[in-house]
Amino acid sequence: MNRLILFLFITLIISCGKESSDSGSSSSTSSTSNDTQQNDSLSNESSGNNSSSDDSSGNNSSDTDNTNTSEKKVVFNSNIHNSLTAEWVEQYNIILDTLDKRIPVFANNYKDLDIYAWNSNTNKPYSSQIGDASGACICGNDQGRYMVLEIPEDEFTYKSMHRYSVIAHEFFHAYQMSISSNFNSGDFKIKWLSEGPAAVFESLYVQEHYDYNYFKYDQDRVDNEAITNPSIYESYDSGGDSNYSSSVFMTLALVKELVKLDHTESDAIRMIIKDFQEQNPGSANWKDVFKQVFSFSVDSFYSKLSSYQADINTVLPSEDLSLRVIFNN
Ligand SMILES: [Zn+2]
Repeated sequence: MNRLILFLFITLIISCGKESSDSGSSSSTSSTSNDTQQNDSLSNESSGNNSSSDDSSGNNSSDTDNTNTSEKKVVFNSNIHNSLTAEWVEQYNIILDTLDKRIPVFANNYKDLDIYAWNSNTNKPYSSQIGDASGACICGNDQGRYMVLEIPEDEFTYKSMHRYSVIAHEFFHAYQMSISSNFNSGDFKIKWLSEGPAAVFESLYVQEHYDYNYFKYDQDRVDNEAITNPSIYESYDSGGDSNYSSSVFMTLALVKELVKLDHTESDAIRMIIKDFQEQNPGSANWKDVFKQVFSFSVDSFYSKLSSYQADINTVLPSEDLSLRVIFNN
């Protein structure tokens, strides 16, 4: 019952806009530089007011029932505007076909998702369907949710890898929504454990399929607080996380810690980006789920981070990793 109330009153926004600053706020729709920084945020909004990540903690709204038994897949309805290049559309279709094999999205928590994609040089061509939504996000309200992929024009000019990686990033959120009812309802919103996996996934995808190290070149702005005060990255309000560099760093450091316990690198990544989420962590129990899945506590992990350097180059995963091996499919 609590979930129903939550669904009726909460507007879930998983916003993945492109930003060149590290303000941690959500989407801006264009960029004036040729960097490939991307920030996005997941926040629950109620009546248009941002709620902090603590608002739902302790309200016992976590859903412990996470059966994930549907054999039907979520139907993605693609609306691709003709302002996008033929090359982009071709890559979009290839990415969707590939992701359907690696991270098939089953209709456990929702049945379909409309996708609206366009080039930012066109002025909101889908405003009659999605209003002012812009940037890159899975966003919406109690009337429904949709995926927005507004690709900044300069990403074509400068051939930014982000124009493709953002597709994998947003689809990973769609996957997270399908394997965890608490993620789907917005009850789980620990930033580094939500965005870190999505951003790591997009980099792994790009590394494997475009032979480009997105970790190294685009997620390298790790803030020193990732090692001195990592708990701040539990909140979407935290700054110092440009293009989720700090969240990615923490996720990759967690991989290193699991490898020290004799897990393979592929297994460690899967444990973080799939197994943990499948255990359906919620606001009330995510630390327990963390310890159950990884065998050490969140606090002990945060302590371990103090022995790291806040440098993405110290935690880079192998360049020959494949999503097929990671997901065993
Ligand atoms: Zn995201």
